[in-house]
Amino acid sequence: MSFERLGLDPILLRAIDKCGFKNPSDIQREAIPLALSGKDLMASAQTGTGKTAAFVLPALQRLLTPSAKRGAGPRVLVLAPTRELATQVSEAVRDLGHFARLTTGAVVGGMPYGPQERLLRRPLDLLVATPGRLMDHMDRGRVDFSRLELLVLDEADRMLDMGFVDAVEQIAAATPDDRQTLLFSATFEGSIQRVVKRLLREPVRIEIDAVTQRHEAITQRLHIADNFDHKQALLDRVIRDENGEQALVFTSTKKGADELAEQLNQRGIRSNALHGDMSQYHRRRAVEQLRNGRIQVMVATDVAARGLDIRGLALVVNFDLPNNPEDYVHRIGRTGRGGDTGTAVSLIGRQDWPKLARIERMTGQKIERTVLEGLEPRYGEPRSNHARRAPGKGRRGPSRSHGNSGAPRRGRALSA
Ligand code: ADP
Ligand code: MG
Repeated sequence: MSFERLGLDPILLRAIDKCGFKNPSDIQREAIPLALSGKDLMASAQTGTGKTAAFVLPALQRLLTPSAKRGAGPRVLVLAPTRELATQVSEAVRDLGHFARLTTGAVVGGMPYGPQERLLRRPLDLLVATPGRLMDHMDRGRVDFSRLELLVLDEADRMLDMGFVDAVEQIAAATPDDRQTLLFSATFEGSIQRVVKRLLREPVRIEIDAVTQRHEAITQRLHIADNFDHKQALLDRVIRDENGEQALVFTSTKKGADELAEQLNQRGIRSNALHGDMSQYHRRRAVEQLRNGRIQVMVATDVAARGLDIRGLALVVNFDLPNNPEDYVHRIGRTGRGGDTGTAVSLIGRQDWPKLARIERMTGQKIERTVLEGLEPRYGEPRSNHARRAPGKGRRGPSRSHGNSGAPRRGRALSA
């Protein structure tokens, strides 16, 4: 299956060739023809599967035909959660739009306002923006969306996690109703449903390799911990049993991540932390240290760990379980990538049991309980755990269907 068959213009095919892409990825094969046909899409696929080109190519194709409407303002708007992701999208637009003469620009936080204001006054073809900064410009009355044809929400779940839900809805409300909308998200659970309902019209749903279905290469087990010290002893043993292989350890708090990394260092296991309170520079450096083997263990929170791609990572440890069961699946998915096998170990203290129940209910799998010699727990599994109905914090009721979903829905809904 080649790019030619997707219905793309020769100008774009030349650029694809120049980028060295031989064949479309699964998400590109599914999404591009549908997007070209004008349909709204809600799509998910693992990180690194080429979602950017899946929306950039149809967007560029649309821009090869002159606008039917007069005025200034962008014809295509791509919203992305962070400046880094917005930059990545801009680079893809530059590369894939290489042979098309287009005016594009970016409006992101942390940059001066002046050039962005001048940019927004021009008739732009494509604008990439982070929601916060774009809202700033809109509040000053400087954005004209009357020509907007296509709105793309990239990493929509992350935008919502970052508190951009109102901004995203306000921005969408400022654009014409007859626009096309493409939404990319790692998950369709929780508040993403509200956004889908309000902003998309009869979307076709595409799910490639849904996150709940890629466990096969990962061995999962758990150890019961009586208290914090017991957890630490278990962690040490689990890490040492991997014979120097690298590990990613998750904690529920930033402070916990810092402290645990520090304690591991004191016990001779080279470690660093990764969480949202660290500067971009220190986050990048920590990831670099893991990539080049300078540290053996990275202790991270969920915020920092989404989308992280470390080749050959053998072990993921949940020092604390996540509150959101979907995050469990994201976490363990940091190992067992690209054909490798991996191990995911969860350390279960008293406060982790209800979370475990929710995770096991969502995945439909019971995680194997195992005991390490010399580190046996004094207390077993609480009997109430089997019967308990976990509160389902922060979740809505049963998921409703919306629009004519072309693709099958994921088998197990969170709330099921
Ligand atoms: P995602 O958004 O799904 O995480 P990206 O769009 O960032 O993934 O793409 C990941 C990498 O794959 C990028 O370096 C991109 O240039 C490359 N890529 C995208 N599509 C293809 C393709 N069809 N063939 C080869 N490489 C591709
Ligand atoms: Mg992406």
